[in-house]
Amino acid sequence: MTAKKKVMLLPGDGIGQEVMAQVVRIIEWMEGAGLISFDLTTGLIGGASIDAYGEPLTDATVANCLDCDAVLMGAVGGPKWDDVPFDKKPERGLLRIRKDMGLFANLRPAIVFEELADASTLKRDVVAGLDIMIVRELTGGIYFGQPRGIETLPNGDRKGVNTLTYTTPEIQRIAKVAFDLAMKRGKKLTSVDKANVLECTILWREEVETVAKSYPDVALSHLYVDNASMQLVRNPKQFDVIVTNNMFGDILSDCAAMLTGSLGMLPSASLGAADENGKRNALYEPVHGSAPDIAGQNLANPLAMILSLAMMLRYSFDLDDAADRLENAVKATLADGVRTGDIMQDGCTKVGTSGMGDAVLRNLAKA
Ligand code: NAD
Repeated sequence: MTAKKKVMLLPGDGIGQEVMAQVVRIIEWMEGAGLISFDLTTGLIGGASIDAYGEPLTDATVANCLDCDAVLMGAVGGPKWDDVPFDKKPERGLLRIRKDMGLFANLRPAIVFEELADASTLKRDVVAGLDIMIVRELTGGIYFGQPRGIETLPNGDRKGVNTLTYTTPEIQRIAKVAFDLAMKRGKKLTSVDKANVLECTILWREEVETVAKSYPDVALSHLYVDNASMQLVRNPKQFDVIVTNNMFGDILSDCAAMLTGSLGMLPSASLGAADENGKRNALYEPVHGSAPDIAGQNLANPLAMILSLAMMLRYSFDLDDAADRLENAVKATLADGVRTGDIMQDGCTKVGTSGMGDAVLRNLAKA
């Protein structure tokens, strides 16, 4: 087994705390089984940090996160903090941690477990067994480009401006993340752009081609974003890894999420640049929010959070065996017919958050 990994836990607010509690049970079990060795620290983010320190994320918590090998986060937000000033909102903590850790690559897998294929609005045979990974550039592009704003012209008309910019290093580093992932998966990468209209994305395509020279084993293709969105709902299983810019990735990853039909099942990862030893800052979190409507009632599905732990094991620590074992325990739990309310189906057994944790632990022990 490898040396102790320093892992920061940020449960956050609402169901974030409940789903994190299940992950802690799983970490403890895996440690007992000798599969992993973690040095855990727990910190506050979002509303929980506002209540304790008056701000959604403290410098000390950021420093702790930067000192760790990986961060596992729950979710932030809730009606309790609706009236705090904009720059102190729980969600600002989330934006700050991503910025301070330099997390430029957002990885969103869309996986449809066989047993849940009927939860999708698409036909079972289109989505059953789907397993794709969308890699979105997170810190550049039109969401950050200058100039931006709304101005009033001399004739009184108003003009809104946003600017799409990418530099060679920005494109190459996200392309490398995507090619590395493709090498760990099906060795197929689709780069999505709009190179028939936008010069910035012509550069994107050229730079992705440059990086491709170092990955001769990966089959690279390019799609325009309009075609990519059609293909995602027509035949999503044609894809393995998709890489794209910030705005296209924002839209396509939500579209891909809906192919799976359930927010409670979707993990994600955000990665920073690799240092000379190949170590990257990394934050893993479920895609869902703090779900105030069901918080504190033992109703939340913890599987997105548990699958985020599996991503951490695989992508930060190269513990592929432990990640496989955890993902297989989730699959076996679904095959046993165990369901939380959000994924409940006829003939299945309904459990709460902790009951789902129990079932995954039982299957882990069986493996
Ligand atoms: P949400 O994801 O919290 O909830 C949307 C719906 O899905 C709700 O009906 C909720 O009950 C359900 N749901 C979500 N996760 C579930 C789970 N694991 N199991 C079962 N059901 C689940 O989104 P929202 O309601 O738009 O936002 C609520 C709060 O969360 C807001 O304050 C928002 O800003 C915040 N938020 C945070 C994050 C984050 O921390 N990354 C992401 C999205 C929203």
